[in-house]
Amino acid sequence: MAGLTPLDEALALILEDATPVADVEIVPLVGALGRTLAEDVLAAVPVPNDDNSAMDGYALRAEESSMTLKVTQRIPAGSAGEEVAPGTAARIFTGAPVPPGADAVVMQENCTLDGDQIQLTQAVVAGENIRRAGQDLEQGSRVLAAGRRLQAEDLGVLASVGCAELKVYRRLVVGILSTGDELVEPGTAASLAPGQIFNSNRYTLQGLLVSLGFEVKDFGMVPDDPDATRRVLEAAAEASDCVISTGGVSVGEEDHVKNQVQALGSLKLWKLRVKPGKPLAYGRIGSTGFFGLPGNPAAVYVTFSMIVRPWLFACQGTQASPPLALPAQAEFEIKRAGSRLEFLRARVEDSDGALRVQLHDNQSSGVLSSVSWANALVVLPPGQTVACGEAVQVVLLDQLSR
Ligand code: AMP
Ligand code: MG
Repeated sequence: MAGLTPLDEALALILEDATPVADVEIVPLVGALGRTLAEDVLAAVPVPNDDNSAMDGYALRAEESSMTLKVTQRIPAGSAGEEVAPGTAARIFTGAPVPPGADAVVMQENCTLDGDQIQLTQAVVAGENIRRAGQDLEQGSRVLAAGRRLQAEDLGVLASVGCAELKVYRRLVVGILSTGDELVEPGTAASLAPGQIFNSNRYTLQGLLVSLGFEVKDFGMVPDDPDATRRVLEAAAEASDCVISTGGVSVGEEDHVKNQVQALGSLKLWKLRVKPGKPLAYGRIGSTGFFGLPGNPAAVYVTFSMIVRPWLFACQGTQASPPLALPAQAEFEIKRAGSRLEFLRARVEDSDGALRVQLHDNQSSGVLSSVSWANALVVLPPGQTVACGEAVQVVLLDQLSR
């Protein structure tokens, strides 16, 4: 198929064209989920801050573990004890700092207590049940690197070193528009006139963008008209870092997106050797990136995830790690090899430790419910057939939405 760009070439081409956003802002830790760090964060304190007990028990000198010891102090979490004198032990609780003099903690289950005297039922060795200062993070070490997209667990780690504010890149603003004379917004009509459909792409795109942490500006529906298309594209490009349209990007005389982008800017890519998603355009309107996605709703999901997402991440100052391709046993067969790289909506299940995968029985790029049904995409290289039971590569959808 001449003229169709393979996915890896297309990705290389668009990624080399992706300029990371330069503006930064300071945000509180509490609102930083999904934001991208603009600088390395170093540990201001060691974690933990001091040697502390991993157990409820007694802190003592390991060399005295065969003796009867007098319990002379009590150290709950949050307070510091005094030196453990020879012949004594300190009652200690999980997380409390190990007092000077003590070099081991014995679990309370391994002691017998008689009044204020303890006797160990088994010996301890020096260092036992002590969590060393800095064992999680050493003071001054790099906690997270610039470019990190913050996950929930990262926020906890940053809190553990006392970080309350972060320098992050400003959120990318993504303008979206839906082309098509046939589109009707849900809620505006009780029923559809012949030929009409409800606009679903708007909602898929909006959801994907929001879940990935981008700011969305919605430019609504655009009729299949060259002037209207150009006006909205221009306004959207003016107000956004990236514009994503759906529909109208093919070669029919009702498809105006490609020509109007060329009138306002330039196209760098058009038509991919990918199924679904052959008609896909990438270009620029001024300094704003532009993606023209196909109209078919399942193709929108696939092309967004495979092509737009990595580009947006790169512009946001982070890297989208390519989704892990896992081997799974096909519970289907494909007898006719295709000429494009195919992404098939599929469902993966764990069957006794092995992954098995079945396909949705309607792979039409218009069938959006197949994406809701799916939890994975089978990635099928061009020219490949599949026999039942053979291993195929799958990518989990969860990996594409975070
Ligand atoms: P197009 O690429 O404009 O030729 O559209 C291809 C198919 O996708 C047509 O069947 C359209 O009706 C459908 N389509 C286009 N835009 C949307 C949308 N926003 N929501 C749902 N379906 C759409
Ligand atoms: Mg259309």
